[in-house]
Amino acid sequence: MQLIIFGAPGAGKGTMAQNIQKFKQFSHISTGDLFRRHIKEKTDLGKLATEYIEKGLLVPDKVTEDLIRHELDMIREDFILDGFPRNIAQAEALDEILQDFGIKLTACVHLDIDPEIVVERLVNRMSCQDCGAPYNLIIKKPKVENVCDECGGQLTRRADDNEETIRHRFTTYHEETAPLIDYYKKQGLLMTVNCNEGILTKLDQVWEELSALDK
Ligand SMILES: [Zn+2]
Repeated sequence: MQLIIFGAPGAGKGTMAQNIQKFKQFSHISTGDLFRRHIKEKTDLGKLATEYIEKGLLVPDKVTEDLIRHELDMIREDFILDGFPRNIAQAEALDEILQDFGIKLTACVHLDIDPEIVVERLVNRMSCQDCGAPYNLIIKKPKVENVCDECGGQLTRRADDNEETIRHRFTTYHEETAPLIDYYKKQGLLMTVNCNEGILTKLDQVWEELSALDK
């Protein structure tokens, strides 16, 4: 089974990718992890990426594509591709790579969610700065305001959990990544999952649909 997973910010892409792996042995190919590994191991691609990052520049698509090509060349079993493609140009590049290796995609899982739900969830999210315990001011309030139930530590918000940042991420997503929806629909590969009710409630259904496709 060869999957791409992409979705709106906060829809639960990481959770979904992790949980799908419980059903079957998948290689989880995440561009974020790949970059970290290549940079740490100082491979040629890692060094190239470091040059851009140190100059404060975005790593060009070509470098990311080479990274994915390198990885898919070694992996011939089931995989979930996470964080790539991020735009149409990358999707076209991926089609070429897959064609070169004779790999056919099983499906492209698109996680959809109402931005208002994400904003509400994230602005209410806090965690303990000492033990990392997660809190939510609506569904999991601490007993004492701003204090961790577990260890008495101070609760803090992540700097990027504010409404403006979240809305900006949605705008970027709609401009760059959302066109993939039509792209994969045309190829007959799109599977949209509505995540408004939380992603975990959808897991069995998604897995059943994927298994049916794989037969
Ligand atoms: Zn704590």
